[in-house]
This record gives sequence, structure tokens and C-alpha cells, in this order.
Amino acid sequence: MNKSIQDNWEQIRERVAHACDLSGRQGSDVQIVAVSKKQPPEIVAEAAGCGIRCFGENKVQEAASKIPRCPDNLQWHLVGHLQSNKTRAAVELFDMIHSIDSTRLLERVNSMSAEVGRTLPVLLQVNVSGEVSKSGLSPEEVPPVLEASKHCMNIDLVGLMTIPPFTPDPVDAGPVFARLREWRDGWRDEFGISLEELSMGMSHDFEIAIQEGATWIRVGSGLLGERH
Ligand SMILES: *Cc1c(COP(=O)(O)O)cnc(C)c1O
Repeated sequence: MNKSIQDNWEQIRERVAHACDLSGRQGSDVQIVAVSKKQPPEIVAEAAGCGIRCFGENKVQEAASKIPRCPDNLQWHLVGHLQSNKTRAAVELFDMIHSIDSTRLLERVNSMSAEVGRTLPVLLQVNVSGEVSKSGLSPEEVPPVLEASKHCMNIDLVGLMTIPPFTPDPVDAGPVFARLREWRDGWRDEFGISLEELSMGMSHDFEIAIQEGATWIRVGSGLLGERH
């Protein structure tokens, strides 16, 4: 039997607060996306009842069938790879996209956002470690996308996201998170885009990510329980 979502939520918030203290940050600097992929609407409803407001999905199709069956007034973030033929649905369903990984996709999200009459906050996913199995832009690919974003009036490029290689000891992900933050600082100065948000850290390594500057952590199983 899983611990209750309420217990998990309280413990995670305590751990976030502690990680913030250790690194001299404010608890309010770090926001939590509850990653609800492969979880039924009932679990989302239970989490919403605990006061959780922001949920993450990794597939547009799953989100499209789930979101209408969940409580209203929740925020939905896309944290997984977006196929270009699902762009319009994504723009209609989500409040933020963490996983932009090409100029083409950025421009497509921009034009769809214009069509539906909104401005969408997005992050670029960066493959920091160069792991072949992970999607995301290599560091060399990021500057042209940043340049292209200046002409995209219907997106707000707010930051960067990464998923580190899995390491049994989460401390080993620290250098990956630190590198993303350092690159961000450089790109911010070079392109004059503030890139305030760093989406990094999951159930297994969010404390390390917070110590390295995460502003959004994406917590799934550690909060909502094992996926089905
Ligand atoms: C599944 C997923 C998460 C959450 O992972 P947990 O280990 O369950 O916390 C975070 N980010 C992305 C992109 C995911 O796909």
C-alpha cells in the first residue's frame, strides 16, 4: 500500500524547504509539477484535493483524454517530447511546454499559439550529457533556437529543462544540473533572454537539482505513487 498523497506531498514540501535552506534559496523559488502520466483522473483528483494545482503529462494523447475527466482550475504542463502533428492539441491543452527541442517545433508552437490567440510559456529541453537515448538539443543547437525565438511573438521562452542520465546516487546528477545553469547564465547574457526557469529534478534527485538552481521540479512516482 502506498503512503497517501497527502503524506507524500507534506514530506516533499519539507524536503524542498530543507534543500532551499541548504542552498540559501527561498522556498517560493521552487515550484512542483506533479507528473501524472499513467495515473488515472482519480489520482489527479485526490492530489488536487491536497492542494496540488500543477500537473505534468508526457503524451498529448493521454492528456487529451485525461484532462477533461480531471477537476477544473488545474494547470497542465507538457514535460515529454512533442510530435509536430500534435502541436495544435498541445497548445490548446497545456499551460506550459518544457520540452521544445528544435527551431521548427518552436516556430510551429508559435504559429499555433497565434492561431488560438494565446501566448504560451515554453522551455527548451537540453541534452546536457550527450546521452543518445535522450531527446533534447545539444548545447551547440541551443543558440540558433534562442535567436529564432526573438521572432516568435506568441511564445514566451522562459527557460531550460533537462533530464540527467540515471545514476544510482543522485549526487552524481549534480554536475549535469550545474552545467545547465552555467550554460543558461552564458546564453542569458549573450542573447538578452532572461531564461529564469530551470526545470530539473525528479523524484530521485530533486534535492540535488534544487541545490543547483532548479525553479521547477517534476515529481511523479514519489508524490502520486507507482504508475500503472
Ligand atoms: C516521468 C517523468 C518525470 C517524473 O519522474 P518520477 O521519477 O516519477 O518522479 C519527470 N520528468 C519527465 C520528463 C518525465 O517523463
